[in-house]
Amino acid sequence: MPQFETILYDMPAPHVARITQNRPDARNAQDLQLTYDLNAAFDHAAQDDEVKVIILAGSDPHFSAGHDLRGGSGKTHNDFPVVGTWAGFDLPGAEGMMANEEEIYLQMCRRWRNIPKPTIAQVQGKCIAGGLMLAWVCDLIVASDDAAFQDPVVQMGVCGVEYFAHPWELGARKAKEMLFTSDWVSAEEAHRLGMVNHVVPRDELADYTLGIAEKIAQKPSFALKLTKEAVNQSQEAQGQWQAMLSVFNLHQLCHSHNMQLYGRGVDPNGIPGAVRRDG
Ligand code: ZN
Repeated sequence: MPQFETILYDMPAPHVARITQNRPDARNAQDLQLTYDLNAAFDHAAQDDEVKVIILAGSDPHFSAGHDLRGGSGKTHNDFPVVGTWAGFDLPGAEGMMANEEEIYLQMCRRWRNIPKPTIAQVQGKCIAGGLMLAWVCDLIVASDDAAFQDPVVQMGVCGVEYFAHPWELGARKAKEMLFTSDWVSAEEAHRLGMVNHVVPRDELADYTLGIAEKIAQKPSFALKLTKEAVNQSQEAQGQWQAMLSVFNLHQLCHSHNMQLYGRGVDPNGIPGAVRRDG
């Protein structure tokens, strides 16, 4: 099995690879190391012809706390192979931040969404902001009954996370409510809205998810690949990617606005307990 610093990789059943985010002390917060480990693990599973289905999990207690805003590993883009042709990660102003977020958030998520094999997110506990992006890029989502989903970045002066799938995943009205209020969406509500395929007791989550993966793994791999593409292309035909690209620019405008007001990409007043400074 391949080894990664922040990822566990195993084959819990024939033709099923499981990628487990493994920064439990940081609630699996996604720093550069975890991002590139995830990417390498997905690539490994994609290129292994024995693998037909991929499960994305997170070590307990929570699936994902989102992006690691503290910088996590302390590593820079120079420590990892860039997946795209964009550049200028260290440049000042809006330029560096936009390039950075295009690489590690927007385009990385698009890569993972388009892996030519079915992927299943196995979500327990909290799934916050950047964690949503990881669940959403998967083809199916199975959640434990205690799972809860939240994107609170509006209170930090940003119009939702970088991979803006909210309206597609939740419907336009619920997406707006979730973003405007920063309220949690329970597993049950996410299921009712179609964002989650199944809700199961937490102690059954891994087995239940594996059962679905094993069922899918019995199907012909090429039919699975083309079926995935058929659904993804249907969403593309509805303009999903063009909308995401457009919203990504609004997202960068938010960062730039906060940079001008506060000297950082997010509004520090949005940190819980802060007293507003801009009235
Ligand atoms: Zn951002």
